[in-house]
Amino acid sequence: LAKSEGRNQFQFYVASVDQAIRDRKHLERDLDIALAQRQFHLLYQPQIDMENHRVLGAEALIRWNHPERGFIPPDEFIPLAELNHSIIDIGYWVLDEACRQAKEWMDQGLELRMSVNLSPVQLRQENIVDVILGVLRQHDLPPSRLELEVTETSFMQYLDDAIGKLSRLRDEGVRIAVDDFGTGYSSLTYLKRLPVHHLKIDKQFVRDLLANEEDTQIANTIIDLGKSLNLDVIAEGVETREQSIYLVHRGCIMAQGFYFSKPVAPEDFLAFIEQFGPPQ
Ligand code: C2E
Ligand code: MG
Ligand code: MG
Ligand code: MG
Repeated sequence: LAKSEGRNQFQFYVASVDQAIRDRKHLERDLDIALAQRQFHLLYQPQIDMENHRVLGAEALIRWNHPERGFIPPDEFIPLAELNHSIIDIGYWVLDEACRQAKEWMDQGLELRMSVNLSPVQLRQENIVDVILGVLRQHDLPPSRLELEVTETSFMQYLDDAIGKLSRLRDEGVRIAVDDFGTGYSSLTYLKRLPVHHLKIDKQFVRDLLANEEDTQIANTIIDLGKSLNLDVIAEGVETREQSIYLVHRGCIMAQGFYFSKPVAPEDFLAFIEQFGPPQ
């Protein structure tokens, strides 16, 4: 009896792995047509100067509205898009749309920087620097209005390649941020050699900032590191007033998070800027 039960469980297991692989294959196939079918759009999350109560910029975040499955979060489909390299076309679309939006806001007189996430797969693309500069030129957007967010995995394997490409972009005026800082394996040596301007404290350290001593220490360390290397530090995932107060007090005045605003559609972003000011 025990034997046949074990076997049933095994078959059940195989069936569910099978299903998972089929789902993944479907999703990959759907990803390939999603762009042409205009199933993606961008939302924008404000980046805040907490000391001067100003909106400094926006991070563009992709959304996929799947025709049958509804909304699929980027954490689920970006890794797949990286595996099958559809991220090259999708990432290009994101960059193009974000730059178009940035230029529109600039023409309306807004002083904003646009942050765009760049996948390690995109950064590996041979002509990526020319592609990015080409998009900026097409939209007539000054390079200093664009910030690229790269993760630590981008430079682990191909450090020299990444340094070369990011340096060229930096020389043209594009800003570079290290996203999810503290979650990867970046050594201080990398940081010294990389042409970066900006560190983003990963939201996992901000979430329990005031409850977990270790997270407090990690956040403090990143803030101090930024100061000594002369890099701006921005905290991700600020959800409460207490976190915001602590960060400002500790010398980290830039933040992004639900406490200020979720990622929103362009109209709502403008509305947010209009009403944003010092807390009452
Ligand atoms: P990320 O670049 O680190 O983006 C920050 C994520 O944190 C976003 O999730 C944002 O909605 C979320 N977030 C912001 N404030 C808070 C907060 O206060 N609390 C919590 N719990 N979350 C907050 P989202 O939009 O789901 O994106 C997830 C990840 O997917 C991004 O992490 C980024 O790695 C990737 N991603 C999103 N859009 C793109 C894109 O256009 N290109 C690429 N290559 N990756 C993208
Ligand atoms: Mg990001
Ligand atoms: Mg992040
Ligand atoms: Mg992330």
